[in-house]
Amino acid sequence: MTLWFATGNAHKRDELRAILPEHEIRLPSDAGIVCAPKETGATFLDNALLKARALYALVHEPVVADDSGLCVDCLGGRPGVYSARYGGERGGRLSVSERNALLLRKIGDSPLRSARFVCAMALLLDENRLCFVQETLEGEIIRDGARGTGGFGYDPLLYLPEQGCTIAELSETEKNAVSHRGKAGRGIAAVLRSACAERSSFLGKPPHAVACY
Ligand code: IMP
Repeated sequence: MTLWFATGNAHKRDELRAILPEHEIRLPSDAGIVCAPKETGATFLDNALLKARALYALVHEPVVADDSGLCVDCLGGRPGVYSARYGGERGGRLSVSERNALLLRKIGDSPLRSARFVCAMALLLDENRLCFVQETLEGEIIRDGARGTGGFGYDPLLYLPEQGCTIAELSETEKNAVSHRGKAGRGIAAVLRSACAERSSFLGKPPHAVACY
């Protein structure tokens, strides 16, 4: 199935293509479409739905959208939905390395290092059929500065005790196997499989219900 992915982030696109290899993932920019709604939601789910609806209104074909971010316990869950804008509240945006350095400064030597990536993914098959999956990847904020060059964003800051490294030290395949986006994407893939099976059992008629997680 062709799935439009409501993002301009090439890292997310590459991850989703690897997570959903049986589907053709298209970005708005592939078709010269500009779709950058203001992320005004209070939750990851709100923002994922808002992005999915904005793109669906332009393409009228199945859309997937994700909203994700890093929630740090000693910062009361911040930056959370503000992860992409962290440190740039007064207008301009910080670079990724400036943002990561700011986050490490704010956390300082707090003994509470637990944090998680959260990814909410919304699938909009048409205006009236949607489902959500929200997943996490738990870890600890590293103490001795960023580590690793893979992935993107805050990946060099989140240490995974089980793997013994940060996310940025994993390959893309290893990251997708454990990540918030990998898990959410596989949930969406399961829903798509059930939607496609239902469609064929209705002899070509579109399915009228889709399982929701
Ligand atoms: P979004 O595009 O509004 O979902 O913004 C997500 C922001 O959260 C990104 O710009 C990153 O800063 C951060 N983020 C989300 N997922 C990841 C990830 O898998 N690795 C590292 N940073 C992430």
